[in-house]
Amino acid sequence: NYRCRSAFKLLEIDDKYKILKPGDAVLDCGAAPGSWTQVAVERTNAHGKIERAPVGAVFSIDLLHFHAVPGATIYGGMDFTTPLSQQRLREALAGRQVNCVLSDMAPNATGVRMLDQESITNLCYEVLRFALAMSAPQANLVVKVWDNGDVPKLERNMLKFYEKVKRVKPRASRGDSAEHFLVARGYKGATAA
Ligand code: SAM
Repeated sequence: NYRCRSAFKLLEIDDKYKILKPGDAVLDCGAAPGSWTQVAVERTNAHGKIERAPVGAVFSIDLLHFHAVPGATIYGGMDFTTPLSQQRLREALAGRQVNCVLSDMAPNATGVRMLDQESITNLCYEVLRFALAMSAPQANLVVKVWDNGDVPKLERNMLKFYEKVKRVKPRASRGDSAEHFLVARGYKGATAA
């Protein structure tokens, strides 16, 4: 039972691109109400339910407070873009590198299309910067974007650091016409560019 339908977007992405596996450490940004976190916990075995498989770890952050997900560490009421939040996440990781960074974050829409699109792109760059600092070699990254002129440039920037970058429109996201995801795989290291 997932907390919202968004779960099916991540399930679809992971079924196709295999970005999560047992034992992985995952950061989930913009995680409330928690359905991507539920999927990440299952697929990384952060709840320890898959016997004899490595146990993963999931760290989830959102501006909103949301209910605990067994197996995940939740940071509610925190803005991912602030230095304090990122410091808290770094401390939680305690030197462990992450294998996958997820962002389903969306800014509060002002209704002014250009401004909203710029703020979602800014969120993506914030996530990308954090991912570059915290990721293990070969790590993956998924960010939500809205179709706009800045996306090709973001995609090119991601390609400097990841072996493959795909634009993905999951079936479960059909209702939201502008939304799609950039799925980056195979982190090459921050000095790759
Ligand atoms: N993936 C989630 C799930 O499956 O349950 C749904 C995420 S919802 C589409 C987007 C979330 O991004 C909202 O809960 C919002 O509060 C959060 N968000 C937006 N900006 C944020 C920020 N700067 N820091 C943390 N969370 C943010």
